[in-house]
Amino acid sequence: MIRTRRRQAAARTRGDTVVPDSPIAAGSAASAAALLRLVRDGAANSRAELARMAGISPSTAATRVEELLRLGLLRDVGAGRSRGGRRPQHLEYMPAPGVVGVADLGASHASLAVFDLLGTLVAEREDPIAIADGPDAVLQIVLGRLRELAGDAALRGIALSLPGPVDATQRRMVSPSRMPGWNGVDVAARMSELAGVPALADNDANLMAVGEAAAAPGIEHLVFVKAGSGIGCGVIADGRLHRGAHGMAGDISHVSVPDAGHVLCSCGRYDCLDAVASGAAIVGALRDAGLVVEDMTTVLRLANDADPLVTRMLREAGTRTGNVLATIVNFFNPAVLALGGHLSQAEAFVAGVRSAIYTQCLPMATDHLEIVVTRAGRLGGAHGAARRILDELFEQDMAALGASAT
Ligand SMILES: [Zn+2]
Repeated sequence: MIRTRRRQAAARTRGDTVVPDSPIAAGSAASAAALLRLVRDGAANSRAELARMAGISPSTAATRVEELLRLGLLRDVGAGRSRGGRRPQHLEYMPAPGVVGVADLGASHASLAVFDLLGTLVAEREDPIAIADGPDAVLQIVLGRLRELAGDAALRGIALSLPGPVDATQRRMVSPSRMPGWNGVDVAARMSELAGVPALADNDANLMAVGEAAAAPGIEHLVFVKAGSGIGCGVIADGRLHRGAHGMAGDISHVSVPDAGHVLCSCGRYDCLDAVASGAAIVGALRDAGLVVEDMTTVLRLANDADPLVTRMLREAGTRTGNVLATIVNFFNPAVLALGGHLSQAEAFVAGVRSAIYTQCLPMATDHLEIVVTRAGRLGGAHGAARRILDELFEQDMAALGASAT
């Protein structure tokens, strides 16, 4: 889902990503690019470690490192700890100057952030938007705000977190609920064209799952549930985002819920989880009951004031969501089930999820299961998105480095 206008002629597809063509793009384990990757990922930080991990001679490692130092991609940062003999010089990855911009789009607000190329948050802000205004209007606003946040720093890439399904092979949004005008749009391509830099777009629950996994090192199997206006889910399997064949893995929005009262869903069917248990569904049901409810913030405030109707609806939504998740927990056996999005801030919702899962799952599936409210916090999705675009930019740079080395 990433595009570089400049390089499109020589582009090839790797997974869901368009990357520049290069004769030794991935490089051998001994290439300068491969060594730089080891340093960037924190797997090695000295010439000796690089030689050992890449299976090359110390002199070859030293030559490659010299080249990377000369290109300004690595720097020596003084002596590390010696295990006898000369103390090794520590190496550090030196990304090019600049920042990446990230926008986490909701139905009525956008969370915008700028990260440096090492992945450190530089600035962030929240802005009201109306996703229903369609992609052209929304992307223009988002780009303007990201440029403001970036200030004098060069914006090198943009990652967009979208509240709807994105087909990973076509890079297009597929029938997103409550997003008129977005269906079938290649949002990454449109943003890339607008901004003139590589852009990437993914489903918000996927990016939040990536951010959550980053905040919980060592957790290899994780299910992240975003329960906001809509309900979505991202899956980390063996430490990596699991997308399925077309990027639809984890989409639980349209799972049928029994005995839900014949509620029409945006997909045209009745009683989908999204139509009966999402934030939008709760807001709608409360309005139908005569309450003045503006959005999820009102719902959370009423829940905080122990409004009995609101509490009951949140608990019921939690139970229904938990019933769907119970099947997933039994099937997938995650170590962590993390709940994020507005609804996860309501105790009644979280309690409903927990009780449904403990009631319906086998003890062996739940004995070691942690059910937590997101540890990555409010900016988890932004961190996940930043990680993805930084990885993509790094791989593009490495492909270019490989090409220039031949
Ligand atoms: Zn549906």
